[in-house]
Amino acid sequence: MDYIYTLLGAEMTEYADLTKCSYFSFECEALLAVGWLSANSQYETGDSDPAFFARLLELARSPWEPGVCMGYHECELCQFQPAMGKSNIFVPYQGSIYVAPELIVHYIAAHRYKPPQVFVDAVMTCPEMNSMDYKKALLANGGRSLVSKRNA
Ligand SMILES: [Zn+2]
Repeated sequence: MDYIYTLLGAEMTEYADLTKCSYFSFECEALLAVGWLSANSQYETGDSDPAFFARLLELARSPWEPGVCMGYHECELCQFQPAMGKSNIFVPYQGSIYVAPELIVHYIAAHRYKPPQVFVDAVMTCPEMNSMDYKKALLANGGRSLVSKRNA
């Protein structure tokens, strides 16, 4: 498994916030990227609401994911001993599904990355991970291909 991660994770993929995320091997028109930062990214910094950060941590603890393993991400903003993450967080909200790498927690905590407000709102209203309400929210916001991928 480690070998596969090395193979797939050789390069970090960068997407500007709120642009379409084509990182995954399946089609999902509703997916919008948040927090896919690289060393060259232009991104907003500033204080985040502690309540938002706490909620994001909860969602990141055991995120629901489509049944595909895509390799790991490494933080390109750290000078030494970069943080790593391999899961992704899917947050359905108002007709879109925002997808952030697990490292978004680290970007906010360590590098003061400030995600777009719509993502903050999405996180604050997101149902519990893996709950029936969460699955319903995925389906209601264009995530049918995600959910069916998971069940396949
Ligand atoms: Zn870092």
